[in-house]
Amino acid sequence: MNQSINHWVFKLLLKNASIWYREQIIHGHVLVDELTGLIKRISLSNTSSADSVINLKGKLIIPSLVDIHCHLRDFEESHKETYETGALAAAAGGFTTIFDMPNKINPINSSKSLNMAVERADRIQSCEIIPYVLLNKGTEASLISNYPYSKAYLGITTGNFRTDVSEVAAFLIQSSGVLAVHCEDNERINNNLKKFQATLENHGKIRDPQSEVLAIKNLLETTKDIVTKGKLHIAHVTLLESIGILHSKNISFEVTPHHLFLNNDDLYQLGVKGKMNPPLRSKLEQKKLLEAFLANQIPIISTDHAPHTKQEKEDLELAGVPGLETCLPLLFHYCKPLDMRKLKLIINALAINPRVLMNLSEKGIIVANEPANLTVIDRKKTKVVRGEDLRTKCKWSPWEGYELLGWPVLTIREGKIAFNDL
Ligand SMILES: [Zn+2]
Repeated sequence: MNQSINHWVFKLLLKNASIWYREQIIHGHVLVDELTGLIKRISLSNTSSADSVINLKGKLIIPSLVDIHCHLRDFEESHKETYETGALAAAAGGFTTIFDMPNKINPINSSKSLNMAVERADRIQSCEIIPYVLLNKGTEASLISNYPYSKAYLGITTGNFRTDVSEVAAFLIQSSGVLAVHCEDNERINNNLKKFQATLENHGKIRDPQSEVLAIKNLLETTKDIVTKGKLHIAHVTLLESIGILHSKNISFEVTPHHLFLNNDDLYQLGVKGKMNPPLRSKLEQKKLLEAFLANQIPIISTDHAPHTKQEKEDLELAGVPGLETCLPLLFHYCKPLDMRKLKLIINALAINPRVLMNLSEKGIIVANEPANLTVIDRKKTKVVRGEDLRTKCKWSPWEGYELLGWPVLTIREGKIAFNDL
């Protein structure tokens, strides 16, 4: 009886690895149990027997990544991205859990639309997809009280949804969930639209830095005296000034790779491919943002992966850029030389802190009996970003032609290989 059970137990040995273990790097082997989806053993000497062995030759194993901000579209916009292609892109980027934003053509704000998204997400193997619910006037009341992840738009962006700041306050009193908020002040944007023509060149002037700061200040002023059950989280912060305000109030926030690694000057080359909301900022602001990350001032990095087709970008000048597959290589590349301190910052921002914010049951640590959600990185691998090579359906990147050092080569989700580029 035991033998027949053992026959079914599939064990994968990741041999000769550098392992991120209790915030240090150790050299050893990780045994993964595919049946339970758990890490079976971590050993320094190679004594484990396994059904399959991969010799990693010193490559680095870190906890897999979690992206709390993606737009996977699908449904009416499956020409841009589907849950399937988005999950493949995520796995190739080293992610095993991603959160999908609700601002679809038919927004996720009812049990019916949520169930449809969950059902579709459940069919996907390569990456876990968790939908957000949209908080606006049409949101089903039971979802506000009971669903753990919601999104509010103080400033209008893709989808033209708008949430009033008073609705955000009401949510935080009523719900114990996480509420991610897009902070750009709509009134200021509308006033700027009276001053500047709505052209690509003026995008950064219309959605100017003060639009972000004002929206954050207004939100915090409105919510300051209420007893909150819910957790407030500010999406895609772009300015050191915003970071200072949020730190002083102990509010969670995220920063994107495009605001960390691109700036206004890149727009000459990028054109509409550099258009997103909030927009790219000045070179000086970008520098301050990167310094803030290196000074451990940024808790979470999220990609805001927002695929549009090349044609849509050109013809309609839509805002948003894809980012799932380039996020980790950009961080590894631009943080080199990658000492232990910087490595810890990256792992915290992409693997540990997102799990904590979203209350995921797994902690993102590599120890026996934890879920085997692992990302293997080849720190010596150099690769040029080519849109046509990407798994995302939109097949382009604002980093087209960039040669980056340090790439994910193997992603394991719940003990099973989700991506393999070894
Ligand atoms: Zn977004």
